[in-house]
Amino acid sequence: MNITIVGTGYVGLVTGACFSEMGSHVTCVDVDKTKIENLKNGILPIYEPGLENLVIQNCKEGLLHFTTDLAEASQSSNIFFIAVGTPPGEDGSADLKYVLGVASEIGQNIDKYSVIVDKSTVPVGTADKVRATIQKELEIRGKDVEFDVVSNPEFLKEGAAVEDFLKPDRIVVGADSQKAAKIMQRLYAPFSRNRDKLIFMNVRDAEMTKYTANAMLATKISFMNEIANICEYLGVDVENVRKGIGSDRRIGYSFIYPGCGYGGSCFPKDVKALIRTSRDTGFEPELLASVEKRNMIQKKAMIEKVVRRFGTNLSGMTFAIWGLSFKPGTDDMREAPSVVVINSLIEMGATIHAYDPVAMEQARKEFPENLFSTKKIELFNSPYDALDNCDAMILVTEWKAFRQLRFSIMVEKMKQKVIFDGRNLYDPEEARENGFEYHGVGRELKF
Ligand code: NAD
Repeated sequence: MNITIVGTGYVGLVTGACFSEMGSHVTCVDVDKTKIENLKNGILPIYEPGLENLVIQNCKEGLLHFTTDLAEASQSSNIFFIAVGTPPGEDGSADLKYVLGVASEIGQNIDKYSVIVDKSTVPVGTADKVRATIQKELEIRGKDVEFDVVSNPEFLKEGAAVEDFLKPDRIVVGADSQKAAKIMQRLYAPFSRNRDKLIFMNVRDAEMTKYTANAMLATKISFMNEIANICEYLGVDVENVRKGIGSDRRIGYSFIYPGCGYGGSCFPKDVKALIRTSRDTGFEPELLASVEKRNMIQKKAMIEKVVRRFGTNLSGMTFAIWGLSFKPGTDDMREAPSVVVINSLIEMGATIHAYDPVAMEQARKEFPENLFSTKKIELFNSPYDALDNCDAMILVTEWKAFRQLRFSIMVEKMKQKVIFDGRNLYDPEEARENGFEYHGVGRELKF
């Protein structure tokens, strides 16, 4: 099969690489010339385990191609995946300008029956807008070309994206035409060998499914963060509560870790967009509004603890930040709690020593250059080097490399022995036995 993927970000690149891995001919299109030039030379724009190998290998095999020219790609293809960004607009709604821009371009180029697949996360009703946009372009060209618009939301997790795409739990396909549904079934057959993973429904239901999944996961996180806060007022250790409830199969262990709030390019924007969609219908989504509010407060939870411990004037103090990406396994810093933590500390006069296993390059783009040139933020090559002369260490992202603390090195390097554990990664007792003051999430009395 010949597939065109438009948008070569986390989703588009992984989708393209994985389809080519299963033998399809894939052309990945992006407007970013540098990105495409780099990809042609085997240089990837993102860090994602296993992806580099897939891209390089399938390019060599002649199955994966990169271009900035959608017209060129559309000559050989009749399946178009739209995998461009849908960032939040000012009112929280998903901004569809990139999606509809691509729809226009597709309408300007198709000459044979085509299936247009919405892979981007888009609000209910978007497929209708994509269809109308393509139809309009065809009318301008005076062409009568048959096409279908399908919704195929993506559920991959950054940090495990390749694995998730190659071995999905389920593949949701919203299709209002049998012809398009059959093409999607064939396309995904290689990913569905051991059991049928395709779940067919109508287009609007599929669009809603993606938002519902993300809203559910965000709700679990915010729920647990709320419980952690209550625990702090009661002197209860939320970690014991977590284990106690996770063992109930109806609840499960996943997504009930208290922490510094959810980030990334999906949960925050998708919860916002669903709230907006809901309000546009006249229904007030009370629960989702609280999920979002709790998350915004939670991103400052560690800062609140720092202020309680050190006050609001942090001039002359240095904080080590362990972890910059919004979660382990990725270099993505979009809406990362680390950004809120670092900006708040700097506002109060502190200096930052930061380390992340893969997101340091991204961090250089995330903060203004003058913060680096004035050494308000310094990036270090190891987590322990970052501790030099620090008044406290704040663990923000729970990378595996941070799981075991080397207390003897920490004792030598740090000015004050204080740990703020934003992910409850450490044993408070062990930290205290090693002479450290420990502050976690939901595991001490609020004072
Ligand atoms: P991204 O920002 O990493 O990539 C988007 C790419 O689209 C960029 O490379 C950009 O240059 C390109 N682009 C923009 N306009 C274009 C155009 N007209 N033609 C060609 N390319 C164009 O975004 P992402 O994280 O891959 O997310 C894409 C969509 O998938 C979003 O709707 C997102 O919500 C959804 N999604 C993301 C994830 C995730 O984990 N990142 C998971 C599931 C779904």
